[in-house]
Order: sequence, then structure tokens, then C-alpha cells
Amino acid sequence: MAKAGEYSKIGDILAGKHTGKKVKIRGWVHRQRTSGGLAFVVMRDATGVLQCAVKKDAVDEKDWKDATNVFVESSAECEGIVKEDKRAPGGFELGVSGFNAIFIGEAFPIAKDQSVEFLLDTRHLWLRSQRLTNILKGRDYITRYLRQFFFEHDFFECTPPIITRSACEGGATLFKLDYFGDMAYLSQSGQMYGEVFSFSLGNIFILAPSFRAEPSRTIRHLAEYWHLEPEMAFYSQKMNMELQEDMIEFVCQKMAKEHPDILQAAGRDPNDLLMVKAPFPRIDYGKAIEMLQEKGLKIEYGQDMGADEEAELTKDTKIPIFVHNHPKAFKAFYMREDKSKPGTVLSNDLLAPQGHGEIIGGSERIWEHDELMARVKEQNLPEKEYQWYLDLRRYGSVPHAGFGLGIERLVKWMLNLDHIRDAIPFPRTINRAYP
Ligand code: ATP
Ligand code: MN
Repeated sequence: MAKAGEYSKIGDILAGKHTGKKVKIRGWVHRQRTSGGLAFVVMRDATGVLQCAVKKDAVDEKDWKDATNVFVESSAECEGIVKEDKRAPGGFELGVSGFNAIFIGEAFPIAKDQSVEFLLDTRHLWLRSQRLTNILKGRDYITRYLRQFFFEHDFFECTPPIITRSACEGGATLFKLDYFGDMAYLSQSGQMYGEVFSFSLGNIFILAPSFRAEPSRTIRHLAEYWHLEPEMAFYSQKMNMELQEDMIEFVCQKMAKEHPDILQAAGRDPNDLLMVKAPFPRIDYGKAIEMLQEKGLKIEYGQDMGADEEAELTKDTKIPIFVHNHPKAFKAFYMREDKSKPGTVLSNDLLAPQGHGEIIGGSERIWEHDELMARVKEQNLPEKEYQWYLDLRRYGSVPHAGFGLGIERLVKWMLNLDHIRDAIPFPRTINRAYP
């Protein structure tokens, strides 16, 4: 077999880079059909699909046998001349002079019109589909641009522990773990450790999995998701929100300009994302509740918004909106009270347009010891487990703020997916941890 460098990428062929030239490609069989002395093998690699036309009298007997014996998801390599052909998918065709089956294998179990459950059971194979391949790429680029944004702003990337004894977002959704006979949890958030890092490095971000035993089945909750958590020393909540909108603008503009093909294939008009520019509208939580009540929704001041309320607020918006200053009562213990609006905290959610819902939760953190201790007591948290976190407020504390972005929530919105499970390769939900 030839060396990797001798193979061309299908994407380059479809971009017209090799027209009229002899090339070699390799990959997997997307489709195969033979009629008389002509076999059409549509090949795919990571970059696209290409129709390869094999004429019986143009190739060796062994090659003809291979080209007619392969089927969906067999692996193969072939060589031939690239021709422009309007009738072929993608507008190009390979006139094959040599075809070699690498691995013919067994009949692929996934055919057309399979049930959602079946496709989840065979996720390890379904990830080869055009649709999921495209989403995998989109997710990768989105994550890259997020990292790029933070590196360009001189943030350091830090890694938190995944096994922990500190609950960050409340006890209800903790996965418990037998830790050598002791109790520990899978991390719900790296934020508290992010605060530690920011007191040594200034501006940092964490990109790590978070685990939540979400009991309800929704289209936007996973039991395991990837969590981007920046934390910034000497930051106010105002600066925090500005950073969030700049970050979202950056990643939307990058995707729309550099990968409109991926967006389009996923069902998102790139122009939708080109419109996403800071500043985003800011709505006070109390005002948002009034607006929702006027529209007839049954929500009271003091209740957390759910999918219906978020959908109502964003159904006509084209860019994300901030909801800020939530009542202290239902927010996390570490959020700092807004002294100018007592009873509310310096918090924000960022809601994606058209009902995609919350993608970010952020806040300014309590940075004074006694204030934090009072909240720990109020919420009956186990003081001992939070000793280290309280320590941060005993030695050189500074005002600081940060936020958490769910990568899959962002991907779901940006690629306009119906369900969060397609934003992650192996979704973990209440009834699934296989494959
Ligand atoms: P929600 O109210 O939507 O359940 P939350 O308020 O519990 O989310 P936070 O604790 O603020 O979420 O977490 C920060 C971010 O992490 C959220 O804005 C969201 O993007 C993401 N996130 C939270 N829970 C999940 C989950 N179960 N699956 C996927 N992403 C999640
Ligand atoms: Mn939240």
C-alpha cells in the first residue's frame, strides 16, 4: 500500500484542486451499485464523498471483483483520473484505473429509516454517517474557536479534579461515588477550583466534563457534558457579561465566515450567526417575570425559569439575551448580592435565540469571608467540606467573577439541532450509558 502522503483528500478533489490529474484515494464505501460492465462506488473519507466509476474493461480482473464485491462501509483504496461531471454528486467523478478492497467485512447493520433508539444503540457505527460526521467537525471547530478566543485574551487553561467532595450546584444532581470506602462525587462544575486558579494566574478557563444526575428527560440535559468555565480575578459582573458576549460573537463570526458549509449541512443558515454581534440585550429577572406574566405564563417572582419561559422570551430574538439579577433565594450560595438591588444577586443567564434556551450561567462571586460563611450556613452546607473554599476568602481575596458554558448547549444552538444528544458523540442520559 502507498504512503499516506500519496493519497489525495476527497475534499480537495471536490474543490477542483486535482481536476484532470491522476490521484489515489482511500476510505470507506458510502454506496455501491453495478450495472452491466460498470460499477459505481461512492467513496468517503473525512473530507467528503466522491463517485468512482469502475469500467470492467478498464481494470484488472481482481480489481473488478473488488469493486463489485464491496458494500456499504467496506474499506478500499482506488486510483484514477479526476473528471468534472455535473451528474455526479459533488460535481466530480473518478475514472478508475485501479481498485483495491482493504476490508470487505459484514453487512452494515444500519439501513435507512431506523428508529432513534436503534441509532443510539449503534452509535459507535452511526457516528460514521454524514450527519454526525458533520456535527463532530462543527463541535471541534466551535471548541477550537473558544480556546482561541481565550488564548488571544491571555487566559491560561487549567484542569480541575473530576473526583471531589464539594458540591457546587446543589446536592440533588450529584453522582455519588465509593471513594475507597469514603463518599465522593463526580464533579458538577470545576468553578470552585477555577477560583483557586484565578488567584494564582489571574484569568483562566477550564474545559472539562461535568456530571449531573438529571432525573428529567429533556432535549437539553445530559448526565455528562463538557463545561467551559472561565474565572477572572479583579472582574466585576459587568465585565463578566461583556466577556461572555464578546466570546459568543467571536465564535459565531468565525463559524459563519470559515465554515458556512458545516453550518448549512447541519441546518443552520450562516447568516443567522453573522448577525450575532455584541452587545446583547440585558433584561432584569424581575422585568422578565413581568413580561412573561403579561403573556399569560404561570410563573411567580422567585421561581426559576424553565424551557417554556426561556422559549417565550427568545422566540422572536435573533441574538442571545441576558437575564440578570436573579433572586438570591434560588441561586447558588457563592453568588454575590447586588447591594444596589438587595435580595438579588450579581448573576446572569445567557439565553440563545429561538427557544434554544440557557447556554451560560455566570456571576460575580462572594469574595468576603463572613458573607460567604453566612450563605454556607443559610443553605445548611457541610462547613467542613467547604473549608478550603472559605480559605480563599481568608488569604488575599479579590473581587472576581466567572461563568459556565455548556458546550453541547452551544453546539445545539449554533448547528440548530433538535436535541442535545446529537451535540455529543456518546450521550449519557437517564436511561443510557451504552455504547
Ligand atoms: P438549567 O437551568 O438549564 O438546567 P443550570 O442552571 O442547572 O441549567 P448551571 O449550573 O448554571 O446550569 O451550569 C452552567 C451551564 O452548564 C448551563 O448554562 C448550561 O449551558 C450547562 N448545563 C447545565 N446543566 C446541563 C446538563 N444537564 N446538560 C448539558 N448542559 C448543562
Ligand atoms: Mn444556570
